[in-house]
Amino acid sequence: MKASPEPGSLAGRLARLIETSGPISVAHYMAEANAHYYATRDPLGQAGDFTTAPEISQMFGELAGLWLADLWTRAGRPLSHYVEFGPGRGTLAADALRAMRKAGLQPQIHFVETSPALREAQAGRVPEARWHDDSSTLPDDAPLLVVANEFFDALPIRQLVATSEGWHELLVAYRGGRFHPVPGPRLPAPLAAAEPGTIVETSPASVAIMRQLAGRIAAQGGAALIVDYGHERSGTGDTLQSVERHGFADPWERPGERDLTAHVDFEALKRAAAGEGARVAGPVTQGEWLAAMGINMRATLLAGKAPERAGEIEAARERLTGPDQMGTLFKAMAVTAPGWPDPAGFE
Ligand code: SAH
Repeated sequence: MKASPEPGSLAGRLARLIETSGPISVAHYMAEANAHYYATRDPLGQAGDFTTAPEISQMFGELAGLWLADLWTRAGRPLSHYVEFGPGRGTLAADALRAMRKAGLQPQIHFVETSPALREAQAGRVPEARWHDDSSTLPDDAPLLVVANEFFDALPIRQLVATSEGWHELLVAYRGGRFHPVPGPRLPAPLAAAEPGTIVETSPASVAIMRQLAGRIAAQGGAALIVDYGHERSGTGDTLQSVERHGFADPWERPGERDLTAHVDFEALKRAAAGEGARVAGPVTQGEWLAAMGINMRATLLAGKAPERAGEIEAARERLTGPDQMGTLFKAMAVTAPGWPDPAGFE
């Protein structure tokens, strides 16, 4: 028999909630697990659970900064705010801000971040930043220059599952000392028939955040660069995954102690942004976007300046752009204000 989770722990609280009021949605489980996970640790890097593009190489943040600086220059160099969603350790922001300064862009800096542990790490890299719990408190007086890398994949998803009797929302039950996904009550709506076992995912949180952000950009001016792993078209399939110490793990074990993510549905994000009157470009693959932004030249230049690091720089370039690495699975999408110039890298 498995021991029950500690009564005060997140697993204990979720188990108790399910025992008293019934199974919870996958979105509820994921939201609670990730809030606890990010609040209590810095998960990034070799010693953590996973690594991200800006942690692999300075080139990623620099090219994001150059992308924004180029748009801003062509938009007539208006007074602007830099905004980053889920800035992790602040590495991307530090690299982007350095590149932007060289182009004459010195915006005010705003971080949307819920984790106290990561806010502290970010303050170490970018002490002048101002922090926000969500986008509602972002300034509304000037264009927003926005970056979100591996932010949307951490937002909660709901899952629907087809059975031979129809569609059900997948819920999280707690039985025999373990969390399990189980079909909830059958949905009354007549949804298209599908093979039993088919799973459809939606992320109401992602769509809500994208709507709010795109609405701000359409009204105030500016642009957003969204980079994440995911698919260009909405589809079917269970993409919920968990990672611990750089390896895949069971998402139903140890909630709050391992990272939970899902593929980002770029078609849904695109529809959300366009619906608010913003313009959307892409998505294109991360490899295509980085190549168009000049990563090969940047790598050659960096290796020329530090020949002893040439091998490491080439390995990082390959990891970010290689089709069997992050180059194809990861996508880049741009959201711009009507009247702003076309963004680079999406032709
Ligand atoms: N962009 C960084 C970190 C990615 S990890 C990088 O590329 O390295 C996800 C980030 O999003 C973390 O900073 C996490 O604390 C933050 N985050 C997750 N859910 C959030 C939410 N609902 N609101 C704000 N920040 C969130």
